[in-house]
Amino acid sequence: MSIRGLILDLNGTLYFKERVIEGASEVIARLRAEGYSLRFMTNTDSKTRMQLHELICSYGLDLPIQEIFSAAQVTFDYLKKNKYSYTGLLPKALEPEFSELERDEINPDCVLIGENREGINYSSLDRFFRHIMNGAELIVMQPGRHYFLADGPHLDTGAIAAMFEYASGHQGQVMAKPSSNFFNRMLSDMRLKGSEVVVVGDDVETDMIGASKIGARSILVRTGKYQSADEYLSAIKPSQVIDSIADLPKALEHI
Ligand SMILES: [Mg+2]
Repeated sequence: MSIRGLILDLNGTLYFKERVIEGASEVIARLRAEGYSLRFMTNTDSKTRMQLHELICSYGLDLPIQEIFSAAQVTFDYLKKNKYSYTGLLPKALEPEFSELERDEINPDCVLIGENREGINYSSLDRFFRHIMNGAELIVMQPGRHYFLADGPHLDTGAIAAMFEYASGHQGQVMAKPSSNFFNRMLSDMRLKGSEVVVVGDDVETDMIGASKIGARSILVRTGKYQSADEYLSAIKPSQVIDSIADLPKALEHI
């Protein structure tokens, strides 16, 4: 089946360390001119779409805001579509945007787990746990176990969410890569099937595995977090491996 759309990872694929990867803007313009539907993705759960758009523009990359999908955006869309009221750990930066949705501390439809360190204490965690035991859906904004800062490793959202899964025996719904919830949101936005799409990214564990879950082909770039031989380490193999996004148009001719 011919390719009609592309889902492109942002960090490490189109830019890295606040710099646009050489050739990225030209490739995006060319793909657009050739008629491909484009969507751009990141697992960020602590920025609104507008904040993310401003950041990407500040790097010198001009992308339409409605084509950008993050863990925060997919979570918002999921709650809105299902008309869910929520409680839980909402990242502070998202509060204005989520104020459109109903926050319910008594009988919420779901418990949201995102990055909000100030919201974590035993009594709040225990309260969220009880809501899950009473049938509220556990929503995991992103599944990262830990992340690194200059001072060392830190607990990430996925680790907090795993505690609730362990305690309650209920599996959470993940709103970020590599979850199919995340990729299906972009497919429905493009009105395309997975087989009509190519996913491009620098991370086998999130981008390639996510692509395989929706039946899409995938292209791994050797930029960003890519490490030598990454493509051989996972059971999921990318359809192609290219040096950088600049080589994407050529790779698409042979996919
Ligand atoms: Mg990446």
